[in-house]
Order: sequence, then C-alpha cells, then structure tokens
Amino acid sequence: MRTITNHLPTSELQALDAAHHVHPFTQNDALAKKGARIITRAKGVYLTDSEGETLIDGMAGLWCVNVGYGRKELADAAARQIEELPYYNTFFQTSHVPAIALAARIADLAPGDLNHVFFASSGSEANDTNIRLVRHYWALKGKPEKSVIISRKNGYHGSSMGSASLGGMTSMHEQGGLPIPGIVHIDQPHWYAEGGDMTPEEFGLQRARALEEKILELGADRVGAFIAEPVQGAGGVIIPPSTYWPEIQRIVDKYDILLIADEVITGFGRTGNWFGSQTFAIKPHIMTIAKGLSSGYQPIGGSVVCDEVAAVIATDEFNHGYTYSGHPVAAAVALENLRIIEEEGIVEHVRDVAHPYLAERWHALGDHPLVEDTQLVGLMGSLALVPVKGERAKFAAGAGTAGYITRERCFANNVVMRHVYDRMIISPPLVITPSEIDILIDRATVALDEAYKQLKDDGLL
Ligand code: PMP
Repeated sequence: MRTITNHLPTSELQALDAAHHVHPFTQNDALAKKGARIITRAKGVYLTDSEGETLIDGMAGLWCVNVGYGRKELADAAARQIEELPYYNTFFQTSHVPAIALAARIADLAPGDLNHVFFASSGSEANDTNIRLVRHYWALKGKPEKSVIISRKNGYHGSSMGSASLGGMTSMHEQGGLPIPGIVHIDQPHWYAEGGDMTPEEFGLQRARALEEKILELGADRVGAFIAEPVQGAGGVIIPPSTYWPEIQRIVDKYDILLIADEVITGFGRTGNWFGSQTFAIKPHIMTIAKGLSSGYQPIGGSVVCDEVAAVIATDEFNHGYTYSGHPVAAAVALENLRIIEEEGIVEHVRDVAHPYLAERWHALGDHPLVEDTQLVGLMGSLALVPVKGERAKFAAGAGTAGYITRERCFANNVVMRHVYDRMIISPPLVITPSEIDILIDRATVALDEAYKQLKDDGLL
C-alpha cells in the first residue's frame, strides 16, 4: 500500500487530491489551475501549510474552532472515551454517559426552558431533524396542516435536501431539485444591499412584517415554524437592524408559530453571549447547534428543544435518528470543549477584550478607499468592497469579482478571510488576543491595498 503523508512534496499531494478528492463548495476551474492549498497542522489561531507557511485563521476553520487549534485536553478526552466506550447508540431505550452529560450541560447553558437535546452530527442534519420535529409536533397536536416552514432568502441552514431547502441560496436551489415542498422564503433584513432610502430601523420593521404578510397569505393554520439565523453567516455576516428581531418575536407569538433560531454559528460565544438568542433577546422554541459545540474537533450538532415541544414529542415514538446521534466520542469532546469555554472565561473574553479591540481595528478599515459598511457583532464581522464610497455602489464587473480577488490577496498574505460576493467576512477563533488581532488586521490591510491596486490595473475600478 502506498503511504501518503505530510512528507510528500506539495505538488504530489495536489495531484492526488485532484485525481481522487471531490471538494465541497469549490470553484473547480480555479482549483484545477493552481491546486489546493494543503493545511498540515495548526496551533492556537495559526495554520501551517505543506510549504511550511504560517497563516492566521480569520475564519476559525468554518466558523467553528472557537477554542483555537491544538487543545491537548480535547485529544485526551477523545482518547479516554475511545478506550472506555468508542461507540454505542441511543436508540431503542439505551443511553450512555457522554450523551446524558452533554444533554444536561447544554440544558444548563441554553436560555429559557430549552432543556432537551436531540443529537445529530452536523448543522445540516440537525435542521433536517427540525423539519420533521416541527411537523410531527403539530400533527400530534391535531394540526397536521400546520406544516409550512417559513425561512429567508440568502439564509443558510446546511447542504442536505431538507436543510438546503430551508436555506435561501438560489445557487444551491438550482442544483438537485430544491426546495422540497412546504418551505417558503421571505426577504432578508439586509439593509445595506436592499434598504433603499429607508432608515435601517424602518427597513428592519418592514422586513420583519414580511413574515406577518406571508403568514396571513398562507393562513396561520398552515404555518408551523419560522427559521432564521440570529445573524446571517454564510449570507455575508448580515446583522439585522435593531427593530427586526423584536418585531419577529411579536409576530411568531401572535400567530402561534414555532421560532427556530439556527445558532450553528452564533452559538457558544460567537456574539459575546453563549447564544445569539441572548444577544438579540429572542425566545426560540428550538435552537440548532453544531460547530462551536465541539469547536469543530468532532462532528456533532443537535436540536435544543423547549419543554412544551419536548413534552408533545414524548407522547409518541419519533421515527427519526442517526447512527451517530449523541456519538460518545463526539459528546465527550464537546463536553470538554464546553468546560474549556466556561473555565477559561472565553465568552467574557469575547465580550470584554477581543470584541472591543477588534471593533476598533475593524471599523477603522472603513477608511480604506475600497471599503465601507464595516459590521461586527462579537467576533463575526463583514465589510463591503466598493468601487466608489458613500453610495452603496456595486462593481460593474460581475458580483464577487472584487471579493474573489481580495480573498486571493488575503490567502497570498497568509490571512484566511472569506468573501461572499463582494463582502469580506471574518469569524476568528474566540481565543484570539489583541496582538493576534493586530496581525490579522495588518495582513488584511496589505491584502486590501494589493486588491485595490489589482482592481485598478485590471480596469475594474
Ligand atoms: N446552519 C448554519 C447557520 C450554518 O452556518 C451552517 C454551516 N455553515 C449549517 C447550518 C450547516 O452545518 P453543517 O455544515 O455542520 O451541516
């Protein structure tokens, strides 16, 4: 058997990658031209690639490595659990200690009466669970027709058939026959892109009331739930105007609609509280969790359910479950991760240290000739790239061209930032220190300067 290790030359690894590995969400033509950047190890907020370069990770992997890389405690927790009980399921009236302990811990941390957890291995799976859970709940209450779920355009809830249907990404719906029936989308609260002449507050109210209009159009007796991310993440870190969430809450309460907060990104400290629902003062009946639950060290997610929904679901067998629901190794690692977040005061670090410092440096990027609309909540931020300032202007070249160029300049300068069309976004590990924030922003500034020059040279400005 051929041994493939870190010690092979990058070109050989890239050739094998191209020959055998089908990549998720990747521009395949660009990948074919230059080959993948191969990450070999990581520590703290830094990644190392196969050429020995060190990158600062402004995205915490995919918004998930909240406690930073290289935590020996998490490796030890996994090793201990693998030796003691590497696998058992939680079907058919069995359970095990890691799943019990993790469910109880999440119930402690989650706001209100969100006291019950149905485990999955990812955010996508958890949102698929939510679709079935909501419909089953209403059926058990004698209202099976309350099956429609309302979600939002440019929302992201995962990549499986159900979760991608909940999502409002047209580029995803174009592939594979989505959305599935019974899911309808309303407009998003993205003031910068769609707010026109309204103030953000007026616009926030208008976009929240789109939910009420949709409920009235369909009939409240047909609508089971509304799902949304407290802050849209993959859609471009869109922080809704302050008027949005209070109005949404009023509407779901009035029409007896379940509120699902998709906290896959915003959970576990990202917004400066344990959950985004606390930051935005909302009271969901169900929260989707994943990513930061284990800081990405193990694939685990879940649906955190309130007392009432759990009580109704418990009156019948819920014919749903994954082989890895509550996987003991993933659960043990998640539990240890939550201990680290709590004992090291990582949520407080975000709120009191990292956010205030990043806010200063992030908003100062608004002085750059290419940048406006700097947004930041906790440690998730975005900015708009613009050809001219002060007009919320768009580039004449196709949407995303400037973003892609800037992202490439970031990568070349050893800082990982992502682009969503022409918005640049960050979501660094929550343990990032002020001096590391300086390195992140200094490199991002060089990348912006280079992108600006390249856009000018290419006649795109
Ligand atoms: N919901 C949200 C808000 C997400 O950001 C994501 C992933 N980016 C998901 C769900 C899907 O999670 P996963 O990729 O673990 O399936």
